[in-house]
Parts: sequence; structure tokens; C-alpha cells
Amino acid sequence: MTRATGTILVAGGGIGGLMAALALAKSGLKSLVLERAEAFTEIGAGVQLGPNATRLLAKWQVLDRLAGDLVAPDEVRVMDAPSGRTIGRIPLGLQFKERFGAPYQVVHRADLHRALFTACTQQPEITLKTGVSVSGYTQSADGVALHGVDGRVFKADALIAADGLRSVLREQMLGDGTPDFAGHTAYRALLPRDAMPADCAWNAAALWASPGGHLVHYPISGGERFNIVAITASRWRGEGWNEKATGNEVLEQFRNACPQLRSILEAGRDYRKWSLADRPPVHNWSEGRVTLLGDAAHPVLPYLAQGAAMAIEDADCIAESLEQAGGDAERAFALYEAARRPRTAQLYKASRFQGGIYHAGGIKRLIRNQIMQRQSADQWYKRVDWIYSGP
Ligand SMILES: Cc1cc2nc3c(=O)[nH]c(=O)nc-3n(C[C@H](O)[C@H](O)[C@H](O)COP(=O)(O)OP(=O)(O)OC[C@H]3O[C@@H](n4cnc5c(N)ncnc54)[C@H](O)[C@@H]3O)c2cc1C
Repeated sequence: MTRATGTILVAGGGIGGLMAALALAKSGLKSLVLERAEAFTEIGAGVQLGPNATRLLAKWQVLDRLAGDLVAPDEVRVMDAPSGRTIGRIPLGLQFKERFGAPYQVVHRADLHRALFTACTQQPEITLKTGVSVSGYTQSADGVALHGVDGRVFKADALIAADGLRSVLREQMLGDGTPDFAGHTAYRALLPRDAMPADCAWNAAALWASPGGHLVHYPISGGERFNIVAITASRWRGEGWNEKATGNEVLEQFRNACPQLRSILEAGRDYRKWSLADRPPVHNWSEGRVTLLGDAAHPVLPYLAQGAAMAIEDADCIAESLEQAGGDAERAFALYEAARRPRTAQLYKASRFQGGIYHAGGIKRLIRNQIMQRQSADQWYKRVDWIYSGP
């Protein structure tokens, strides 16, 4: 039996890696988080947190730290981009909170990341190290050694690889290469509140469904800014998150959209773009004392806004599995993987399917609009129950 009684290494200090360290600390387990960047930071964009995520953030007292930064949207609002018609309004207020036992909230990623980072710095069990780019691991009956590209070696009882979509540790474990391009480009921008066209400055998680793409916007930073993300079908392939795009480039992609939507895009400055990746689920993502977490293990397309939530759920599940297995990392990682496999695979499929609905054109678009217009809040709640009431 391999007992994880000492330290657990966490490779990658994104939302998933920091969450994992916090969850381990709450179970009294020590961890060393190694992040390749020179500082623990996040990109300038928003993240939507369904009740499955906010429930766990509350459990670890992270939600309290975010109090002034969080926004609780009143509703999900879906529009048909060519006509500008509203085709769905789902309340996210008290009725929603009572139904799912936790709120739906939106936040700037940097605020969420900072809250996690601060929480980690206050846990004596957690050590955080930046400027360490990991390149691979070796393991034996006694433990794991994690190698940095600069030749440093870190030893511990077990390793959680939370190094994201293009994980080098996944490549070593599974050898399945870089993820495929999904054929979609995402553009993001942040708008000061008063730059948002007044007739669209809703307190809503708003989505404009357009043939071949969609636009999402919602307020963040306590309501001071709006997060805008536009997704369009595209052949462009880029690997970073930060390539500059012009407003005209984005507008060109939505040339058939209604004036209201175009006015939002025109208000955006400093667009950044990245291409979406698609990696179908795998059956196994653990090997002995090493396991993968979050995007390294099971990335999903962003159409249900659930990728970070899956990483948060993973972190909770790993900590619980370690407790259940009495600290035996190998057994715990097998339990974790078995518990997470069906849900993350289902989420992958559901996210792809949802993308098809949002991006429908022609007759499919008209049918979608009719169905959505007829859908009651209760019907929508039932449809998403498996996501929001989980894991
Ligand atoms: C357009 C878009 C919108 C989204 N919106 C939402 C949303 O609203 N809600 C939601 O829940 N999810 C959303 N997601 C998904 C979410 O962003 C990801 O699923 C989530 O960030 C994954 O977290 P992670 O910690 O697994 O990986 P990451 O956030 O990628 O973190 C990986 C970390 O590892 C570090 N790292 C990488 N390689 C190494 C290395 N070799 N050595 C050391 N460190 C390394 C990186 O620097 C980074 O800090 C969205 C995604 C996209 C593309």
C-alpha cells in the first residue's frame, strides 16, 4: 500500500490546482503547488459559477472572500441574434437558489483566483512556488519525483497534475498528443459598465445565439464591468489566450446580426482571441500515485460554462477519496477517477450538443426558437438538474 502521509505535489496553480491544494489542506494534507508562471495570476475574463461550483466554494469559505466581487444575475436571457428577439428568460433568483441549494454567480477570473490564492497562503499545509515549469515525473514504490525543465526535482508521496489543456504530464501518462482544434475562435473583451449600450446592460447571463456562433455577456467586478465573449466558426489556429484581434474582425463575424448585438461588439476595445480545443473523454487518467485534474484530465467545450466547475468538483472529490482510502494515494486516485468519469464524459457530450443548439441556422434555428420560447423555467430547471444538483 502507498500511503500519502507526507506531501502531495500539485503541478499547475490555476483554479483547479489551487482548489486541490485547499481541499487537501482541509483534510489536513500537505501540498506543494508548482506554477510555471512567475506569479499566480489569471487572464482578464469572467467565469460563470453554477450552483454545483458555488456550493463547493462556500464549503471551503472561498465564496465569503469574494463577497463584493461576485454578481448574482437575475436571469439567463437568450436572444436570437439575427432578429434580436428574446427567446428565453430563466429566473436565477430565490426560486433557483431554493431549487438547487446554492446561487448562480458570475465573477472576474482574476478575483476568483486571487481569493483562492489568499486562502492557500493562509493554510500552513500549503506551499506555493512560482517559476517552476514541470516536464515529467518518475514514480517508484516509495513516491513520486517531479522534474522541472531547469533540472530541479521535487519529491513527494503523490502527484496531482493540474497543468491545463496542454498538459505535459498528461502527454507523458497517456501520450495522446495535443488536443484537436474545435473549429471555433473565441474573442473576449472587458467593458466598463458605462461603455455597455444601456439597452443591453442587463443584470443577466445573456446569450445571443447566431448561426455558426454566439455572444455571451454578463456583469462582473461587483457590476463595474461587463465580460464579453464571442465565439465564431473559424479556421484560425492559435495556442495562447492572448492574441490581439481588432473590433472589425469580430464585427465581420457577426455581419448578419441585429443592430443591438453589433452595438455591443462595437463598444468592445482590446479584443483578445484564442482557438477552442476539443479533446474527447478518455477512460483512465491516473497511473499509480499520479492523477490528472480539471482541463488536463477532461476538458469540455465552454457552451455550458462548466469547465472550471468540473475542476472544482475534481478537487473536492480527490480530497474525499483520499480520506475514504485512508491516505492510500493509489487507491484514492482510482476511486476519484471512477467517481468522476461518467459525469465529466456526460458533460463533454452535453456541452457539444448545446453548442449545436446555440449555433443552429436555417430551419433548425426556427425550431430551436419555438421550443425555447415555449419552455417554462421549471422545464429548464429539470433539464439542467443533473448538472447543478451534482456532483
Ligand atoms: C471561452 C471560455 C469560457 C469559459 N467559461 C467558463 C465558465 O463560465 N465557467 C466555467 O466553469 N468554466 C469556463 N471555462 C472553462 C475554464 O476556463 C477551464 O475549464 C478552467 O480554467 C480549467 O482549470 P484548470 O486549473 O484545470 O486549468 P488552467 O486554468 O489552464 O490552469 C493550468 C495552470 O497550470 C499552469 N501550467 C501549465 N503548464 C505547466 C507546467 N508545465 N508547469 C507548471 N505549471 C504549468 C498554467 O500556467 C496554469 O496556471 C471557459 C473556457 C473557455 C475557453
